[in-house]
Amino acid sequence: MNMFDVYPVFGIKPVKGEGSYVWDSEGNKYLDLYGGHAVISIGHSHPHFVESISNQLKELAFYSNFIINPLQEKFARKLGEVSGYQDYNLFLCNSGAEANENAIKLASFYNGKKKVISFTKGFHGRTSLSVAVTDNPKIVAPVNETDNAIILPFNDEKALEKAFQEEEISAVIIEGIQGIGGINLPNPSFIKKIERLCKDNNAVFIADAVQCGYGRTGKFFSHDHFEVKADIYTMAKGMGNGFPIGGIAISPKIEAVYGMLGSTFGGNHMACAAGIAVLEVMEKENLMENATQVGNYLIQELKGMGIAKEVRGIGLMIGIEFDFPIKEIRTKLLFENKIFTGSASNPNTLRLLPPLNLTKAQATVFLETLNEVLKAV
Ligand SMILES: *Cc1c(COP(=O)(O)O)cnc(C)c1O
Repeated sequence: MNMFDVYPVFGIKPVKGEGSYVWDSEGNKYLDLYGGHAVISIGHSHPHFVESISNQLKELAFYSNFIINPLQEKFARKLGEVSGYQDYNLFLCNSGAEANENAIKLASFYNGKKKVISFTKGFHGRTSLSVAVTDNPKIVAPVNETDNAIILPFNDEKALEKAFQEEEISAVIIEGIQGIGGINLPNPSFIKKIERLCKDNNAVFIADAVQCGYGRTGKFFSHDHFEVKADIYTMAKGMGNGFPIGGIAISPKIEAVYGMLGSTFGGNHMACAAGIAVLEVMEKENLMENATQVGNYLIQELKGMGIAKEVRGIGLMIGIEFDFPIKEIRTKLLFENKIFTGSASNPNTLRLLPPLNLTKAQATVFLETLNEVLKAV
């Protein structure tokens, strides 16, 4: 059997990782400013992470959710402590799309309505409901287009108000900062309006924190920067530092009914061990504070260098937009300078999503290298 060829892969074979570095099969060392798109939150192969999952594997790898798994309670408690959302409840699944799928479904159970609002350039996943609210024609199969998805222009308050007047809205889903769409920030008044309209119309405010959450922007959920409180937060990417975990944090106003949500693998023993280890490291090593410090430094320097059309982002979620496609820069950074960076659906935007323990010295190496690369292109 061969692999189904769906990924445009670069010809590099990483075989080892440590902190913000990876090594390829030929022994070349790379600085990782992409974290495998925001997945590597506490750094590659962090010793505490490795120890926790190795120990758990020796004890018990899996049993179904029809037994008590004490690790789930521990995970939920720790997540409450680190995020500050102690009164929310946790449901565990395995990916970001599943998290959004469950959140949308839960909203509909809660208020008995069906229509879901999302926004242009948003990305919420590749399963049917998630795909229906995703604005990317490349990955939306016709069979998945449902009448219940309403994709509105991003940051357009009038369009939002109008939709609430005309339709029975079950939920609004929005990324705190659009990731794949090119690091686009919502206007504070826009996101506050979403919170207000959801409250007034018994709709559920779903914060997609799959990419922008988990401490990446210096606050636990990037939505927290806008002083709003969502009814459901969806999480995945950084949650397991490479171990597949997804989850939704649910406001206490939404009550659970047996059987309404479920997952075979969700919340298994290995996933919990990985998830708890990530939160312990985030807390012990003050990674949210580091994301703020190093992120602010990067953003300020990038703006000061005057190399880009626009620099957008908060903390360690940064988009650098140029007047031209970034493909050449990105390729040079990777092959000639051994630095991983990311692209976005906007071809002119370079996307940075490094591990949260990136150091200022490593950030400086990137800034200097980028400057050199720009001179050469
Ligand atoms: C990656 C992503 C998803 C989908 O996550 P998967 O784990 O790939 O299913 C959903 N929402 C956002 C904002 C994402 O970045």
